[in-house]
Amino acid sequence: SNETVHSVNPYSGEVIQSFRPLSVEEVAVSAARAHKAFLAWRKVPVAERCGLLERASEVLLSRKSELAQTITAEMGKPITQSLAEIEKCAWVCRYYAGEAPSQLARTLIETDADRSYVRYDPLGTVLAVMPWNYPFWQVFRFAAPTLTAGNTALLKHASNVWLCGEAIESVFREAGYPEGVFRHLKIGSDQVEALLDHPAVKAVSLTGSGGAGSAVARAAGSRIKKSLLELGGNNALVVFDDADLDAALETCIQARFQNTGQSCIAGKRLLVHRKIADGFVAALVDRVKALKSGDPEDPDTYIGVLAREDLARDLEAQYQESVNKGAHTACGGKRDGAFFEPTILTGVQPGMPAFDQETFGPLLAVTEFDDEDEALDLLGNSQYGLGVSLFTRDTARAERLVPEIEEGAVFINELVKSDPRLPFGGVKASGYGRELSALGIREFVNAKTVYIV
Ligand code: NDP
Repeated sequence: SNETVHSVNPYSGEVIQSFRPLSVEEVAVSAARAHKAFLAWRKVPVAERCGLLERASEVLLSRKSELAQTITAEMGKPITQSLAEIEKCAWVCRYYAGEAPSQLARTLIETDADRSYVRYDPLGTVLAVMPWNYPFWQVFRFAAPTLTAGNTALLKHASNVWLCGEAIESVFREAGYPEGVFRHLKIGSDQVEALLDHPAVKAVSLTGSGGAGSAVARAAGSRIKKSLLELGGNNALVVFDDADLDAALETCIQARFQNTGQSCIAGKRLLVHRKIADGFVAALVDRVKALKSGDPEDPDTYIGVLAREDLARDLEAQYQESVNKGAHTACGGKRDGAFFEPTILTGVQPGMPAFDQETFGPLLAVTEFDDEDEALDLLGNSQYGLGVSLFTRDTARAERLVPEIEEGAVFINELVKSDPRLPFGGVKASGYGRELSALGIREFVNAKTVYIV
């Protein structure tokens, strides 16, 4: 649609900027330009592409405070966490600037040929449909490897973070990327299918909800175009009775409440051994009550507001229905506009929204278990499969459980977090494909067999 899109500060309610979305014709022109840019960009030597990526990391760091302020203004992330997000983007750029040459180097394979090998050639223009929760990181996690592999990119960013989208495009421009290699398209979700129809667009990467993921994957699939999906999660934090409880407590707090709980890999369900549950939960409640909520621009604030008021209302409904079904509020539970109090629900059971569904905000759902088998049943009782954290002093026991755990990641005595050096992605309703690491840069390439006799 052609309706004006407003960027709104969710903390103050102020309209920061208004945008006119691109027309259907403008989008088609952008796609054609991205393809034209690709024809030149793929010939640029990898070393040169890495130099530009290194430059992008420097631009990010030199503009760190301005970029972080944009994130905070547009989606309410506490400023210290916005600064950390920009630093992480610089890290993923530096990582691929260093590693891409070897990750993209041809793989020689001995066969009957005189010489045979696999080349990793770019696909063309890749569309990225991205969310607002880490409005820079999600884009850089995709763009750093994808561009460095020789593809060009079109970004369709979430409609509440177009200032971030514009700022990201400006980072690549300032770093010296050729025109058209990375473009932010100010378009709504209604224009995504037409883009996938465009012959220039060869593949799509989406991070977001299951609904958006399945719509985009269906549109891509019907055109035989590749998709990569990073969808929701409902990660469990499993605290066994032999865990280092002080360390586990602090890690669980970070896992659930950082980014005001709006993370796909957040630890949303706390599964705790019944023997230690009362003391552990009491300590958690004290710690959660002490988390500082307030103005996201204040460097002391740890809990900001949710990115939009409708998201806070959705969380409130999940909370309320869980309470109606018998969960107990240990702390929190109140909403005010886009603010939702840090909340702990105890006595949470399968069948309640706080257990079955992804809760995208500062709400921790606590369920007790009696033994390892019950813990495994509960953790696997989820449509999602992004990751899990196990807390125990017996790491050998935890490792023994790993093969049975249907998740994209198992972290032992640590929160599930992304690291450019490690693959990132899920199974089940959490999606498919892997980002980051050598696997990530090979998602959007043509692994081309060459055979010479
Ligand atoms: P969405 O999944 O709707 O938004 C993510 C991106 O997908 C946005 O760019 C959005 O565009 C786009 N999109 C949405 N629907 C379609 C469609 N049918 N076709 C093409 N593109 C589409 O997330 P919401 O903002 O509505 O958040 C809802 C919930 O999604 C959250 O509460 C959370 O559970 C989950 N989520 C998960 C994230 C993750 O990191 N895995 C990140 C964000 C949300 P537009 O903004 O224009 O609608």
